[in-house]
Amino acid sequence: MTDPGRGDGTRSVRAGEPDPVAGAPLRPSPVFAAPFHLADAPPRAGGADSYARTEHPTLRAFEAAVGELDGGRCLSFATGMAAISAVLLAAVRAGDRVVLPSDGYYATRLLARDDLERLGLRVDLVATPEIGAVAARGDLEGAALVLLETPSNPLLDVCDIAAVAAATRAAGAVLAVDNTTATPLGQRPLALGADITVASDTKALTGHSDLLLGHVSTTDEALHARLKGFRDRTGGTPGPFEAWLGHRSMSTLDLRLARQAQTAAAVADLLAQHPAVTGVRWPWRPGDPSSALAARQMLRPNGVVSAELADEAAVGRLLAASRLWTAATSFGGVHSTLDRRAQWGGDAVPPGFVRLSCGIEDTADLVADLAAALDAVHDAAHGPR
Ligand SMILES: *Cc1c(COP(=O)(O)O)cnc(C)c1O
Repeated sequence: MTDPGRGDGTRSVRAGEPDPVAGAPLRPSPVFAAPFHLADAPPRAGGADSYARTEHPTLRAFEAAVGELDGGRCLSFATGMAAISAVLLAAVRAGDRVVLPSDGYYATRLLARDDLERLGLRVDLVATPEIGAVAARGDLEGAALVLLETPSNPLLDVCDIAAVAAATRAAGAVLAVDNTTATPLGQRPLALGADITVASDTKALTGHSDLLLGHVSTTDEALHARLKGFRDRTGGTPGPFEAWLGHRSMSTLDLRLARQAQTAAAVADLLAQHPAVTGVRWPWRPGDPSSALAARQMLRPNGVVSAELADEAAVGRLLAASRLWTAATSFGGVHSTLDRRAQWGGDAVPPGFVRLSCGIEDTADLVADLAAALDAVHDAAHGPR
């Protein structure tokens, strides 16, 4: 195990590494196998590999790395939604009350509406800025599971994990935190009292816009066993190529986050002073409604910024005038992207609301390109400034 006092760059590269063995590759190569030889031995739990749906060497290496960054035991899943589904379904039974964010990732809400209610769960949706007050009032009493998403996607609101964790524990419920936006370098929910941290690793953790992954980490052995059983039976296990690519990609997480955050600070400043834009959110911008809590609870900033343009047409003009801000969903990748969230239909946001994901291109190029595109939007509405 890497010394937890080491820096983020060291941990991104070295987390989960076994002791060196002469002749072994520096980073384990992928082992492409579904079944493994049993030879004359019967399959044994915890023994030699036998079938890759339950575990395989490439997945163990990747899970050891991510789990070390989270400060827990990690289980990797084929997507973020597979990981979230496992958390929601493995930790509850019919009749249970689950509390989910009303303003978080839209597919989680669809899962609640179309599947959890059908299976007899009672779903309460609470907005991220409200959950602290709900917890303080004792209104988590009777819940079996509480899911937070902080910073929430796409509104970037932050809630107090430690405070909600205390209330959740008092209610005898399980607290899970969707840590996708922050990444394990930006926030450690388990250290703040959460039972589970869950994330889409499709986003910044792997960060190259070329694979789907998710994971769950916990320090609770019983929860880990339940989640592992659920994953192995429902089959959301990533294969070796994804696990290897995920492990390879996360080595640069510290470098990517540093550049993305540097650009985000400059982009948030540009947006905030531009007449074509309102409602800029970046939790590390002084004066942002989330900034005090983010500074207290989070470890470092990232590259996701949100803002509002006048309407759908203004967003279209911005994209048409920009060379470097690419229209695409998802976030946390090496490319800078801009997503008009209302086009997906799931978020309760205005038609001109955009989420910008700063990539790792040069900050000066991105800022200059965005400034020119914003001026084009403004000029189209008002004539040249
Ligand atoms: C993208 C995302 C998910 C879902 O992840 P997939 O890998 O797309 O399944 C869940 N939560 C948040 C906050 C996300 O941004």
